Amino acid sequence: MRKKEIIVIGGGASGMIAAMGASSKESKVLLLEQKDRVGKKLLSTGNGKCNLTNSYQGKECYRGRHPEFAFEVFRQFSYEDTIAFFSKLGIYIKNKNQGIYPFSEQASAVVDVLRMGLSEHGVRVHTGQKVLFIEKKKRFIVQTEKERWEGDGVIIASGGKAAPMTGSDGWGYELAKNFGHHIIQPLPALTQLVSKERFLKGLAGVRCEAVITLYLDGKEEAKERGELQLVDYGLSGIPIFQLSRFAARGIYEKKKALAAIQFLPDMKEEEGRELMTERIRLHPKRRGEELFTGLFHKKLSSCLLKRAGIKGDSLCGEWKKEEVLRLVELIFHFPVSIERVNTFEKAQVTMGGVDTRELKETLESKKVPGLFFAGEIIDIDGMCGGYNLQWAWSSGYVAGINSIGVK
Ligand SMILES: Cc1cc2nc3c(=O)[nH]c(=O)nc-3n(C[C@H](O)[C@H](O)[C@H](O)COP(=O)(O)OP(=O)(O)OC[C@H]3O[C@@H](n4cnc5c(N)ncnc54)[C@H](O)[C@@H]3O)c2cc1C
Repeated sequence: MRKKEIIVIGGGASGMIAAMGASSKESKVLLLEQKDRVGKKLLSTGNGKCNLTNSYQGKECYRGRHPEFAFEVFRQFSYEDTIAFFSKLGIYIKNKNQGIYPFSEQASAVVDVLRMGLSEHGVRVHTGQKVLFIEKKKRFIVQTEKERWEGDGVIIASGGKAAPMTGSDGWGYELAKNFGHHIIQPLPALTQLVSKERFLKGLAGVRCEAVITLYLDGKEEAKERGELQLVDYGLSGIPIFQLSRFAARGIYEKKKALAAIQFLPDMKEEEGRELMTERIRLHPKRRGEELFTGLFHKKLSSCLLKRAGIKGDSLCGEWKKEEVLRLVELIFHFPVSIERVNTFEKAQVTMGGVDTRELKETLESKKVPGLFFAGEIIDIDGMCGGYNLQWAWSSGYVAGINSIGVK
């Protein structure tokens, strides 16, 4: 019997695992990657350490129009299957606060074992091959800039639009659209929030633990706690990355976005008021900026005073009650109007993509038999912490094994 020929488009996380999943006695697999090597994006994951996955897998960790679709895929290739898959490939893992990393904490180790795995599975890898279009006649015809291939099944694992310098330039959406697939607007996620507020210039470099609430058109949309980083163009840090997908969608829908920062995350506003009153009572001769010493970064103290309309060199014992209340209000609800989220160049992931309602649980297209999708090109995005790679591993493997059965 003739072996089934499967063509995988994209040599990122999902494409490499898909190619291994698709390789069997009954199939031959070809992987086409437009860059000069596979796994470019993987090298920069987890700050070069690669946060492979996460031992906590809650429903809230995955987003999209239909996030439940991700769990149908995880039932077929779970977090546990991922760990088993990588240990078989040679990755000894390390669990750091639920984040799973290779023991050597080198993303390059993950790319290396995947490359070895591809070769051990007999996958032919052709780099420097940008797929321009795919047609389905009797078989699939895949045309790159240089060559033309035929296959019985095709897996599109070309990523989204995030970090396009690593190869994911969004062309995959065109390939999907040509087959009649509907693309949910791709937007940057896991990225910074950009603001035009002038006071941010004076706050650049401040890092602090905070609770940040995102409001869209005045309604609370999402809330995160963690280390906030203030930068001259806006807000950064893990809690901001987590909020960014909600901001991106809201701003795309023309809603007004506002982030409100609570700089004393463990206190209720009432307790904050008492704390300020007590500090003023104990040190009435201290100047405004001195009053916050030991509590907030100097840059933050002077910004708070300025925004509350209080002179930095005034004695706090002389402040009016309304001035103290204004300060407390700012400490607990420091408003920053958000203009946009950062660009795809700075984003870790893309939200939006191929509509999951047009895919079977096997990740085969409901529109075109034999066509599969895997990874970030699909409308599923995860939180920070290994969830986007988990989606890439699970969807890649499931698309791969199911592609063997194509007619
Ligand atoms: C800086 C950074 C850090 C990150 N850290 C983490 C982390 O620690 N943990 C985590 O879970 N997630 C992390 N992510 C997200 C995660 O890396 C991605 O979600 C995941 O790699 C997506 O895999 P993918 O295979 O779907 O797409 P990609 O990795 O983007 O791969 C797609 C591949 O397809 C190729 N391609 C595209 N179009 C074509 C074409 N027309 N022809 C041929 N080839 C094509 C591209 O060159 C690319 O190699 C990070 C992302 C970034 C940018």
